[in-house]
Amino acid sequence: SDAKVSEMIARVKADDVGFIRLQFTDILGIPKNVAIPTFQLEKALTEGIWIDGSSIEGFTRINESDMILKPDISTYAILPWRPSEKKVARFICDVYTYGDKPFEGDPRYVLKKNLEEAKKLGYTFNTGPELEFFVFQRDEEDNPTTKFVDHGGYFDLAPNDKAEDLRREIVLALTDMGFEIEASHHEVADSQHEIDFKYGDALAVADKVITFKFAAKTLALLNDMHITFMPKPIARINGTGMHCHGSLSKDGKNTFFDAKADKQLSETALYYIGGLMKHAKAIARLGNPTINSYKRLVPGYEAPVYITWSAANRSAMIRVPAARGNSTRAELRSPDPTCNPYLLFAAMIAAGIDGVKNKIMPPAPTDVNIYHLSEEERVKLGIEMLPGSLKEANDELLKDKVICDALGKHVVDNLTEIAIAETDDYRLTVHPWEIERYINNF
Ligand code: ADP
Ligand code: MG
Ligand code: MG
Ligand code: MG
Ligand code: MG
Repeated sequence: SDAKVSEMIARVKADDVGFIRLQFTDILGIPKNVAIPTFQLEKALTEGIWIDGSSIEGFTRINESDMILKPDISTYAILPWRPSEKKVARFICDVYTYGDKPFEGDPRYVLKKNLEEAKKLGYTFNTGPELEFFVFQRDEEDNPTTKFVDHGGYFDLAPNDKAEDLRREIVLALTDMGFEIEASHHEVADSQHEIDFKYGDALAVADKVITFKFAAKTLALLNDMHITFMPKPIARINGTGMHCHGSLSKDGKNTFFDAKADKQLSETALYYIGGLMKHAKAIARLGNPTINSYKRLVPGYEAPVYITWSAANRSAMIRVPAARGNSTRAELRSPDPTCNPYLLFAAMIAAGIDGVKNKIMPPAPTDVNIYHLSEEERVKLGIEMLPGSLKEANDELLKDKVICDALGKHVVDNLTEIAIAETDDYRLTVHPWEIERYINNF
C-alpha cells in the first residue's frame, strides 16, 4: 500500500541508507543482487525493477527474458559489514514476468505456492535448519585452500577453536539482521563449525538460510579466511550437513504433540514422517543437489544412507528429538547446505502434506544402529537406500509426481538439465584419484 511505501522510504532515510540491494536467488540457491541508489526505491516498491532473466541460472527462456524484481518489504535489512554511513540495505525480491505474473522459475514463488497449499488445510510449516560449515585458510593469492584453520573437535574451546572470533562476528551480524541465534559451536571435524537459529515459518527461514550463507562467506573473506558449505570438502572425515527440523502447526499449536499417544507423537506427526519417507529419494534431488553431496551420504560419518526413522538413534534419516510439547518435531538429516532452501522446503512440505492427506503411516522405527545390520537383514526389513548419485536422484525426482507437481515443470526441466550437465562434465574429467591409482600400475 501507499502508506507502507512511504513508511519504508522514511525508514531508509532515517537509517542513512545510500544503496539498496535487490536480492533474489537462482535455481541453484545462489544469491544474486542488483544495487540501486536510494532515490530509486520508490520506483522499485511501486513498479518493480526490470532485469534480464536470460543470464540467470534456471531462469533461461527463449522469449520472455525481461523480468521484474518486486521487493518484499518485510525482508528489509542493513548489511552490517558495509560502511556505517550511506549504509547498504537489502530487500529480498519476488520475480515476476512480463504481464505481471509470478515467474514459475523463481524458487521463492515455488515455496510460497506450496505453503499456500498447506494453509488451505490449516497448516503452517515450521522449520529450523542447522547450518554447518568448514573454515579454511586462504593462500597468498587470496584463493581458498582446503587447509584447516584449527584442529578442534565437538564443542571445543580456544586454543583448539581458532574461529571463535569469526563465529562471534557472524552471530553478531546475523543478530543485527533479525536472526534469533540459538547456539554456535565447534563441530566434530577439524575446522568445522555450526551456528543454529530459531525455527520459524518456512519462507522466512529459507530467506534466512540464503542470508546466513552469504553473510558467513563475506565475513570469512573480510577475516582472510574462507567458509565453504560444500558437503564433503575433505574425504574420510565428517561432512557438512543441513539437518532440517520440521513441524506443522495449526491455529498456533504444534500438531505433532499428543500427550496420550505412543511416544507422545500425534498421527499427524507420523503421517508427516511417512510422507517424507515415501518421497525421500526425490527429496534428495533438492536436499543433495551437487555431485559432492553424494560423497557425504556414505556410511560411518553421521550422515544417513538408509531411509529410516527413529526416536532413539542418530543414524536414522529422520530423527524425532526427545523434546515434546511445542518443541515436538521431526529432524530430516539427509539435506546438506548446497541445497536451494526454497526448493527443499517446498519438496518437504509437499511430501509431508501428501503424508497427512493420504494418511501414509511410516514403517516401524529402526531403533538399532542400521550399520550393524547385514545386507540380508536390511532387505528383509524393507529398508531402502537414498540415491547414490545426483543423476540417480534426478531420475527418482522424475518418477515422483507429487514432488514434480510441487516444483512445477519449469523447475523440474531445469533441474534435469543441470543434473545431466553436471554428471557429464564430472565424467569427462580425469580426477587426481585416478592418476594416483593407475599411473604406475597400468
Ligand atoms: P540437534 O540436537 O540435532 O543438534 P539443534 O539443537 O542444533 O539440534 O537444532 C534444533 C533446531 O530445531 C533449531 O533450529 C530449533 O529452532 C528447531 N526447532 C525447535 N523446535 C521446533 C519446532 N517445533 N519445529 C521446527 N523446528 C524446531
Ligand atoms: Mg546490463
Ligand atoms: Mg546441532
Ligand atoms: Mg551438527
Ligand atoms: Mg541435528
